[in-house]
Amino acid sequence: ATQVQRKPDWLRVRLPVGKEYAQVRSLVDTHKLHTICESGNCPNMGECWGAGTATFMILGNICTRSCSFCAVATGRPLAVDLDEPNRVANSVKLMQVKHCVITSVDRDDLKDGGSIIWAETINAIRRESPETTLETLLPDFKGNWDNLARVLEVRPEVVSHNLETVRRLTREVRIQAKYDRSLDCLRHISAAGLRTKSGIMLGLGETEADVLEAMADLLDAGVHILTLGQYLQPTRNHHPVVDWIHPDQFNFYKQKGLEMGFRYVESGPLVRSSYHAEKHLFDF
Ligand code: SF4
Ligand code: SF4
Repeated sequence: ATQVQRKPDWLRVRLPVGKEYAQVRSLVDTHKLHTICESGNCPNMGECWGAGTATFMILGNICTRSCSFCAVATGRPLAVDLDEPNRVANSVKLMQVKHCVITSVDRDDLKDGGSIIWAETINAIRRESPETTLETLLPDFKGNWDNLARVLEVRPEVVSHNLETVRRLTREVRIQAKYDRSLDCLRHISAAGLRTKSGIMLGLGETEADVLEAMADLLDAGVHILTLGQYLQPTRNHHPVVDWIHPDQFNFYKQKGLEMGFRYVESGPLVRSSYHAEKHLFDF
């Protein structure tokens, strides 16, 4: 795939503003809290933090996988940090997060796939901040559905697992993952009676037909909430951006998605999996 260089105007980063954002910012600085919003330099921080939403990553910051789009370091992870659930719960409380998104690296090295720490983290947040709602953005647990069930038992308000790309590009984009295994993972989440969410990045070289096929597959797997955003290359060593998808094309997918039967579709150049996450708590 050839690399396209210049970013179009519609991807210009919005500067974070607002009183709520400033308050969260100062708490994060004072207590040296760690969020994905910040470490990923996400363009939506002003909006999300202003709305009381933030994303945290658990199970360390070294991943056993090496997806070609992802900025997280690959390698042998450190030992599990048993104090992490309390630390994250403490951050959520200090930041007064209203809707908390938790994600993790993949821990294919662990027998439980990290599911015990996952469940403990959710329980700790529930204990410290009973009003806070939760979205858990989960790995595929290598198809070990008992490990997945351990997290689903704690019944987060929204449970997501990202398909990330279309079938045709899965091998190239996320080598250790499988398109159908991700769909199975979503099927299990949905069958547990939970609000089920998934996302795809666009601009990796997929065609419109590829995207519509993936959308149909997600709907068939029981997904209620769909996110579509522009892929941005984190460094020159990552998968190139093949296309800048025009905002009109994102709108087209949004309309299609709603017509197909998704309950909620976030589709736009700056959409990230956790963007507007607080809006995904529809009656269920
Ligand atoms: Fe944080 Fe996600 Fe919002 Fe970005 S989109 S600021 S990572 S909650
Ligand atoms: Fe990044 Fe997740 Fe892939 Fe690990 S599994 S490399 S954290 S996208």
